[in-house]
Amino acid sequence: MSDEIKKLANNFQKYLRKEYSDIKTILKYKTQFQLLVSIVLSAQTTDDNVNKATKGLFEKFPNAKSLASAKISQIEKLVFSTGFYKVKSKNIHGLAKVLVNEHNSRIPKTIEQLVKLPGVGRKTASVFLAETYNQPTIAVDTHVLRVSHRLGLSTKRLDPVQTEKELKMLFPKSFWRYLSMSFVQFGRDICNSKKPLCNVCKFNNSCKYYFSINN
Ligand code: SF4
Repeated sequence: MSDEIKKLANNFQKYLRKEYSDIKTILKYKTQFQLLVSIVLSAQTTDDNVNKATKGLFEKFPNAKSLASAKISQIEKLVFSTGFYKVKSKNIHGLAKVLVNEHNSRIPKTIEQLVKLPGVGRKTASVFLAETYNQPTIAVDTHVLRVSHRLGLSTKRLDPVQTEKELKMLFPKSFWRYLSMSFVQFGRDICNSKKPLCNVCKFNNSCKYYFSINN
């Protein structure tokens, strides 16, 4: 890893810490179970949409036991607006059932155990552990992937697991649990997928993507 990339990572980290110092999830939940369900539902939609759907969902089925005994058709009606509602309903129903039957309604505390639950991938597990236990995890979603590769912070493959490894080598552990949320926000505010605001971006001088489109 070159000194140039290390310097860029350091400057980028300082910028994100300052710019998004009070960043936190806007998902509304009262329990760990509700948080995990909300994160599963948040795939391919906004957190606002999830909050609107979970208001009704958690009023009716606030915990694993009640959701496990719900009918899929009831769940589908309640989470319809989050998109991909059939798959999501099946997943959160299955998730609730596994928690009740195999974990005494408790949520596992490790990535390895979490990813065995229906609908829970590495990204969901990482977000959950960072939010609930302040565990140093990095959740690589499409924004994190895009920003990392455009800037040149991750170079080898456009692959979440590989990118997570590279980011972990580049940034201090104390920053890992803030990294995903601040990269996502930067990706929304500045480094948009279709129209990145490169002209106002403070990192255009050292950005691999910016260099490639201007040379
Ligand atoms: S210069 Fe453009 S592509 Fe590079 S990080 Fe900034 S906004 Fe993204």
